[in-house]
Amino acid sequence: RRHVLGIKLSDRKHTGVIVDFAGNVVASEAIERVEGALALDAILDAAEQLVTTLCARAGLARAEVGALGLGVPGFVDAELGVVHWSPILETRHVPLGAALTARLGLKVLVDNDANLVTLAELWFGVGRELSDFAVVTIEHGLGMGYVINHRLYRGARGMGMELGHSKVQLDGALCRCGQRGCLEAYVADYALVREARTALNLTNRETRTVPILLESLFDHAKAGNGAARSIFRRAGRYLALGLSNVMNLFDPQLIIISGERMRYDYLYAKETLTEMGEMMLDTGRPPPRIEIHAWGDLLWAHGAAALALDHLTEETVGAAREVAP
Ligand code: BGC
Ligand code: ZN
Repeated sequence: RRHVLGIKLSDRKHTGVIVDFAGNVVASEAIERVEGALALDAILDAAEQLVTTLCARAGLARAEVGALGLGVPGFVDAELGVVHWSPILETRHVPLGAALTARLGLKVLVDNDANLVTLAELWFGVGRELSDFAVVTIEHGLGMGYVINHRLYRGARGMGMELGHSKVQLDGALCRCGQRGCLEAYVADYALVREARTALNLTNRETRTVPILLESLFDHAKAGNGAARSIFRRAGRYLALGLSNVMNLFDPQLIIISGERMRYDYLYAKETLTEMGEMMLDTGRPPPRIEIHAWGDLLWAHGAAALALDHLTEETVGAAREVAP
């Protein structure tokens, strides 16, 4: 067994890779999907379909794969493989790891999706040179992974660092997690979509799906439409609120911002930076670095594979310890 699988499940697309033990991607595949929450069986079907395609593409039998790392948006107990809430699942508290292990006959490790991009940065990216950094992802939701002293920090039950659900407003906007006033309800794609629906005169064609609506919001902003521009600026100010909280709480060396939204960053970057400057504690030192990494879903899947590699390494090291005198 010289390969592992990594899969990122998401609202719009499922992406997977097969990686060898040196961490090189040997095959990849993405499948588009209809947006919305699904029943557990449908998620298992999608994951299995991806695994079958990937194995065929890499010329491997399923039994030749060591383990599967799976990234899921939402509140994941990484130790137990239980998903307590996810925008892609209809029900809460789902033992996804055990269900998929049973379906595939393969060890499955489940973790939060943003944790896995962070793991990819830690193993394969700029994180190799850093001890303390954050990766903030902005697209349909807002996620974060955080490395403390060279290790991914997950909290006591594996569910920490949910920056998207840190509260920034009392009695605020409704978040997709069911609570109010969460940061992502002001910054993520669905927040922009909500604002666009009320502030802009959009045609039926423009509101057909969330990606189409987002694209038209972007086009209007680019063309100079004031209402569209102020939607981006407001989201940028809320983002500053979230990022300055991260800086003031953790004092990272670097914050990496990634995700599809970075295509539009010039529409709000100025507001974000100005506002952040005002909200950060005056430490007399230069502020932490911010970098934009516009990697796509493949990096998330690569991070998921890193989780599987990590598991196998620990297993091997553990076995070696047991036989050691
Ligand atoms: C979820 C996070 C996830 C992020 C990005 C948020 O809505 O709560 O867990 O990391 O979206 O997918
Ligand atoms: Zn929330």
